[in-house]
Amino acid sequence: MEQEANKKRKIIHIDMDAFYASVEQRDHPEYRGKPVIVGGSPNSRGVVATASYEARKFGVRSAMSSRRAVQLCPDGIFVYPRFDVYKDVSRHIREIFSRYTDLIEPLSLDEAYLDVSVDKQGIGSAIEIARLIKQAIKDELRLTASAGVSINKFVAKIASDMNKPDGLTFIGPSQITGFMEQLPVEKFHGVGKVTAEKMKKMGLHTGADLKRLSENEIKQYFGKPGAFYYRIVRGIDEREVQPHRETKSAGAEDTFPVDLTEIETLNKELERIGALVATRLKRHNLKGRTITLKIKYSDFKQITRNQSLPFATDDLEVIVKTAQQLLAAVDHEEKAIRLLGISLSNFGEVIAIHGNSTQLSLFD
Ligand SMILES: [Mg+2]
Repeated sequence: MEQEANKKRKIIHIDMDAFYASVEQRDHPEYRGKPVIVGGSPNSRGVVATASYEARKFGVRSAMSSRRAVQLCPDGIFVYPRFDVYKDVSRHIREIFSRYTDLIEPLSLDEAYLDVSVDKQGIGSAIEIARLIKQAIKDELRLTASAGVSINKFVAKIASDMNKPDGLTFIGPSQITGFMEQLPVEKFHGVGKVTAEKMKKMGLHTGADLKRLSENEIKQYFGKPGAFYYRIVRGIDEREVQPHRETKSAGAEDTFPVDLTEIETLNKELERIGALVATRLKRHNLKGRTITLKIKYSDFKQITRNQSLPFATDDLEVIVKTAQQLLAAVDHEEKAIRLLGISLSNFGEVIAIHGNSTQLSLFD
């Protein structure tokens, strides 16, 4: 029986709808139906953590600067995040998951993969389990979640995003091939903005276009991630749901052929290294809250600086900008730099942030 179940896995991806903003609307009835923007205040250097669906209509998005958000949505209600509350809700959601399986892989406070190939209650149907989980979240927490159900993580994750909010989308084994073929490349999680642009310039717009490339070609064009794209576009994703993720940090670094001193050159290098990091994060489906910059000088002395954000990110621009700010804040004592590295950590848990006004105060 169990062997049979393992052969075709049943994977659910659950994602809370506009999580922080929905919690705020739940707890503040006067915010309901209004554009709520959780994050830094509009006259700070802060960013948007989550926007309610009403605010999204104005184009407000996560990771956007709060200044930009207030331009787009002048009547937006800016709310400073209450992480303790979100964390409690997150614990409760995980407790609901654990009624059905212990194979739970949290990706952030509001998102997780569940493997319900074998479920604790012997329900057998992943769709039914997803429905029960959504109902429990509604009844016990007065919040909505969207669920994607399929036989692997990749398709389950895309499915959960298809009918938001309050969606439940099932993509069965017989539908996967067709589904992947019609999928626009920018919808492939793991394919970042830059790569998606590159693909389009090459005339690769959908899964079907990617499928026409041989394994060698795809690796040649897109490097190592190409091997992942090659399999994923054929619906093959054997990554397991990992209840105890071992990954503590993900990053990249580079030693330069010659030591560097020019800030413009160093910033360019950070763009390049940041792109590697973002690709890695996306490939492993990780988002981190803490960005660490490592600097090694020509005298081999090494320092690190880090900054924690109010939200988890895998966004290239956020990663690079943060690393560049960290670099700019260091007094290099006129020494040349031989190595730069960027890494992200703090994947699962929210950490405290200190006030919404200055990012500089977060430098250690
Ligand atoms: Mg969410």
